[in-house]
Amino acid sequence: MGVVTELKSLTQDDLLSGCAEIVGAAHVMSGATDVSAPYCKDWTGQYAGIPLAVVRPKSTQEVADIVRLCCAHGVSIVPSGGRTGLCGGGVPVSDDTSIILSLERMNTIRNLDADGRCMTVEAGVVLQTAQDRAREDGLVFPLTFGAQGSAVIGGALSTNAGGSNVVRYGTTRELCIGIEAVLPDGSIINALTGLRKDNTGYDLKDLLIGAEGTLGIITAAVFKLSPMPVTRTTGFLSLASLSDAPRVLNALQDRTGGGVEAYEYMPAAAVEVICREFPKIRRPLDALAETGLFFEVASSRKDDAEAGEDGETRLQRLVFAALEQLMEEGVIIDAMIAQSEQQRLDLWGMRESILEAITANGSAYHTDISLPLAAIAEFVTTMDVAVAEMGFQPITVGHLGDGNLHYALSAAEGQDWAALPLDQAKQQIFALLTRLNGSFSAEHGIGQSKLDVMRKLKQPSQLVAMRAIKRALDPEGLMNPGKFIPETNDAAQKT
Ligand SMILES: Cc1cc2nc3c(=O)[nH]c(=O)nc-3n(C[C@H](O)[C@H](O)[C@H](O)COP(=O)(O)OP(=O)(O)OC[C@H]3O[C@@H](n4cnc5c(N)ncnc54)[C@H](O)[C@@H]3O)c2cc1C
Repeated sequence: MGVVTELKSLTQDDLLSGCAEIVGAAHVMSGATDVSAPYCKDWTGQYAGIPLAVVRPKSTQEVADIVRLCCAHGVSIVPSGGRTGLCGGGVPVSDDTSIILSLERMNTIRNLDADGRCMTVEAGVVLQTAQDRAREDGLVFPLTFGAQGSAVIGGALSTNAGGSNVVRYGTTRELCIGIEAVLPDGSIINALTGLRKDNTGYDLKDLLIGAEGTLGIITAAVFKLSPMPVTRTTGFLSLASLSDAPRVLNALQDRTGGGVEAYEYMPAAAVEVICREFPKIRRPLDALAETGLFFEVASSRKDDAEAGEDGETRLQRLVFAALEQLMEEGVIIDAMIAQSEQQRLDLWGMRESILEAITANGSAYHTDISLPLAAIAEFVTTMDVAVAEMGFQPITVGHLGDGNLHYALSAAEGQDWAALPLDQAKQQIFALLTRLNGSFSAEHGIGQSKLDVMRKLKQPSQLVAMRAIKRALDPEGLMNPGKFIPETNDAAQKT
């Protein structure tokens, strides 16, 4: 055994026994075992890495002690939440150089302040659990997306997750009003006051949110809660043109006092893939809608829930008035409105199954982009023609109300995916996106998968500032290395 290997194994043993002393031996899984395997591979199956150990602390103090220990040994840390991230952020980039720090045992809802309409939750609380707890007090924790049964608070904060309700309630960042975290030197910052106003220096909360674990470990947070809707109107629309989508959104918002909770683009190709892969899911409209839109409008006003003589609620009447006018103008071709809670849930089920449907459909390239609302139609129409000529079938969905598209490419019928010019298609997508002032990462983050495009498209001055912040807080570069910030701007020197 060489000297270097000897030293490394000595250090590794020290590290593992030190971790066990802090969190208990049962919560340190060393190396690659069947138990640690699920932590070592990301949801997409594209990224994997074996850690020195998976360590599962139960308290903020234990997280801080582990961070200090790793710092002393020069061992890097990869934070891990619900492991539903789509960019390879939660797994090590190389084998045997880091620990995976799983926050899943920090799963306590510490407090719900019904009068203050806020809730303090630990990083390992599953989103659905937080939603259920808020509902018990007649309130809403609105963060909603397909992976909400597994994704946790720390992961959602670290990726600044979005989802289907952002159009009304904002992203995770906008919902968060306080944070507790362990910085790379092991110090704890406790900013869980839940103050709505606090202008006392740099906002470290906002620095940590969306940092994908590169600046510290989030251990808990305070979230705003909203009044529970008492009535909802949910439906599916077929539009004559995608360019009219902002107009329809604004008409619904204007009529209902900003009540739109979801406004999701679901064109024919997406609905077709879902119905093919999940035959129990039924088409919302008989004729497939080229420009299909799934929407939900909600109100917490009791008078909006009151039914008139015709059995329609006030909210429904407001929505129908907006839709009827747009139908008369030829903007909306067809509409389906859910007549029962089951029909509403079926529509949501259809929307939330798209990622799994595309995955089951075969090889695909996914994007997570955002554009000004007015530029969405130009982007989709131009790209659809361009990629079809290359042999791709675009399957697009998106949180259209936020200008966020998941523009995915699959092989058109009869085409061999491996032979298609994917690099050329990507180049055209990002060139058009840049021309239209869009973003190459709307809600999923950067992780490992978007380092290249980050290097190419992020403004160099912003990258320089980001690296300076990283160096100031994490001079040894131990927090989630190889993710989020490309080391250089030079495309030839890849991280
Ligand atoms: C079916 C499906 C649908 C999805 N839909 C959406 C959607 O609509 N909108 C959306 O935004 N995302 C969506 N996602 C992506 C994913 O669910 C989100 O990115 C989610 O926020 C990740 O949370 P997680 O707990 O799984 O985090 P993980 O995957 O475990 O981690 C994500 C990143 O955060 C870091 N991290 C985790 N915990 C901490 C912590 N406590 N402190 C510091 N860093 C930490 C990790 O190192 C990693 O870089 C979807 C994913 C799937 C599988």
